[in-house]
Amino acid sequence: MTCCTLTLEKATSFRGEQHITHLLLSPRVEIKEIDQMKKPCKDDHKYELVDFDYLPNYLKDNEFILSYYRSEWPWKQTFLSLFSIHNETLNIWTHLIGFFIFLALTACAVSMVPFGSQPELNRIHESSNQNNISVISLNSIDHMISSSFNWYLPTYLEKEIINEAVQGAVTRWPFYAYLVGAMICLFTSSACHLLSCHSEHCAYTMLRLDYSGISTLIVTSFYPLVYYTFLCEPFYRNLYIGFITAFGIATVLVSLLPVFQTPEFRSVRALLFFCMGVSGLVPIMHKVFAFGDEPVAMITTAYELVMGLFYGIGVIVYVARVPERWMPGKFDLIGHSHQLFHVLVIAGAYTHYLASVMYLNWRDLDGQC
Ligand SMILES: [Zn+2]
Repeated sequence: MTCCTLTLEKATSFRGEQHITHLLLSPRVEIKEIDQMKKPCKDDHKYELVDFDYLPNYLKDNEFILSYYRSEWPWKQTFLSLFSIHNETLNIWTHLIGFFIFLALTACAVSMVPFGSQPELNRIHESSNQNNISVISLNSIDHMISSSFNWYLPTYLEKEIINEAVQGAVTRWPFYAYLVGAMICLFTSSACHLLSCHSEHCAYTMLRLDYSGISTLIVTSFYPLVYYTFLCEPFYRNLYIGFITAFGIATVLVSLLPVFQTPEFRSVRALLFFCMGVSGLVPIMHKVFAFGDEPVAMITTAYELVMGLFYGIGVIVYVARVPERWMPGKFDLIGHSHQLFHVLVIAGAYTHYLASVMYLNWRDLDGQC
């Protein structure tokens, strides 16, 4: 649009007053000539990257990132910019790769079985012996159980044995809800970074979706923690799950409804996200108090502390806008705070995934009430 306006002004000034009189006297010619003036611009426009100072206000977010901005590009160019270099490229790809990592983890969880501990393996061996089934194939997988979080794709025969061994295994929905929540968050974030440069309306919509994605991740992060910890205490299980779900829905509504978009509600939104995250401390402390003598409770708590550390450092980096604050313009393409924030979010989400697998193994093995 800027290019067209410039071309139009240039052409008008070349032709001078005579041309303006001509245009005024012949409105039909005017439309035709203006169209002709616009046409080459449309074809020749290269949608080059611009500096911070040339951005419309709604795209001005970080004054320490000086260049390589896309600004009000058409849809086609905006989508294709997924494969070009600009200051959002790594923001898009960090969370897009994170999305595919969680997609792969979900595929693992659906098609494979976790071997979380020696007792589980023993149960499988016992079961296979009772059924007079050769354990040769099972022995061959022993070496795979070197860590707590190996996933194994069983053969048909092994699947039969495993199904019997883990019969009555605890429900999986809280675990899958978390995986889906993480994928929603990472995908909406990636889409937000890719598409927001298109227009003000698009930026507005994508940002609301991004908020909803963050809320979904926070809410679903609670599900494995609360459900498996308080499996045998339905009152606390329902209380915590009900509370965080209602909290999440409220936060999504606050983020989506136009009435809440006024600046005075910005702090309310931030406060809601903060309170949602911090409210996780309540069921974690409750878990330590109630199950402190169980090693799994302490190990999962350690994971949750590491997760909190990743998210915490991520938020500090995000708010402080370092390192670009120290050297404006030097981290435009690689290494600015938002990219670091994205990587830390994936690290936090993956840590929580490890904790969730551990909860699952815990209740599969001895969690039946
Ligand atoms: Zn982001």
